[in-house]
Amino acid sequence: MNVLVINCGSSSLKYQLINSDTEDVLAKGLCERIGIDGRLVYQKAGCDKEITEAAMPTHKEAIQMVLDALVNEKTGAVKSLSEVNAVGHRIVHGGEKFASSVIITDEVLDAVAECNDLAPLHNPANLIGINACKELMPGVPMVAVFDTAFHQTMPQKAYLYGLPYEYYEKYKVRRYGFHGTSHSFVSKEIASFLGMDLDHSKIIVCHLGNGASISAVKDGKCVDTSMGLTPLEGLVMGTRSGDIDPAIMEYIAKKENLDIAGVMNVLNKKSGVEGISGLSSDFRDLVDGMNAGNKRAEAAVEVFCYRVAKYVGAYVAAMNGVDAIAFTAGIGENAGLVREKVCEYLGYLGIAIDKEENAKRGDNVVISTADSKVKVAVIPTNEELAICRETVALVK
Ligand code: AMP
Repeated sequence: MNVLVINCGSSSLKYQLINSDTEDVLAKGLCERIGIDGRLVYQKAGCDKEITEAAMPTHKEAIQMVLDALVNEKTGAVKSLSEVNAVGHRIVHGGEKFASSVIITDEVLDAVAECNDLAPLHNPANLIGINACKELMPGVPMVAVFDTAFHQTMPQKAYLYGLPYEYYEKYKVRRYGFHGTSHSFVSKEIASFLGMDLDHSKIIVCHLGNGASISAVKDGKCVDTSMGLTPLEGLVMGTRSGDIDPAIMEYIAKKENLDIAGVMNVLNKKSGVEGISGLSSDFRDLVDGMNAGNKRAEAAVEVFCYRVAKYVGAYVAAMNGVDAIAFTAGIGENAGLVREKVCEYLGYLGIAIDKEENAKRGDNVVISTADSKVKVAVIPTNEELAICRETVALVK
């Protein structure tokens, strides 16, 4: 079966067409600047990228262009649209309504729309993508895969904030967590890679990308995660602050003469390692800066790694132990220095890192030494493949 995986943002749309039998990517790309001017990037497997500038007033035109590219006589990945058997949509927020992926029906669309308040930038864009596909591919089954679903197994003690309980009842204020598709995929992947029994395991997944989060996965189920009501909580990220003293918001608002939107803009877009370093949100630049003697770049990397290590410690406590730790996403997969620094803090767990293995890149790799008490591995995430698998499981 061929599954079209769609990840729709407010002005962009990423896609992959995956053959679910072989799990090969047949074609992939993205539409950018939707509603502004429009740009399609399309790449058939084994071929060069093609870039087409064309008007995309709405997501409907963007998806139409993707479908046209997929069946293009010369460069298409399939002969006709009848070979696209299902569509899997990434949805950011499923609130408490969705603890797993679901086939999209009108009722599901209404329920997703009810979560719009919780993710006002993302959910409406996800819905636009679904509606455009519905119009252009009538009858093709579609599945919604939620970023929050995997974390719905968290116990109340992990998801309730120390706030008036009625905010939870009235406004659904609680920890939801994000990157769930990745945490789910990577926890399963590390268990199978290391020959562990997922149902009797304690795994910590460090998803360290521009957005970063950690989760504690016990017996295959999430028991805690670092992001909260929104993706702002937890680790220090590319441009997000992660955990701060909430009173800083009022203090900064007064000092800088900012309203709530202004403070939120600082916390989401001007903080994190970029805010600390004043240099960049990208770890490649930070590591280069550090090596060139830039003290603020060094401070940013140190703060980032220390926060990751603190969360790992917290989740070891939450699960009363840990069997394996996985590093994934852009930084987790590529920045050996970050992995090494984080693991240096974890010596008390009997963790030791093999520097040669830690320097490797690419596939799944164990980076802990043979006598390390906890296995540590780099496990590349693949959210599109995870969405494809979820889609097939429901559609078949
Ligand atoms: P993601 O959000 O998972 O796509 O991760 C993106 C981030 O990964 C970038 O902003 C970089 O900070 C980081 N990254 C990507 N490649 C490398 C690399 N080779 N070395 C260090 N960091 C990297």
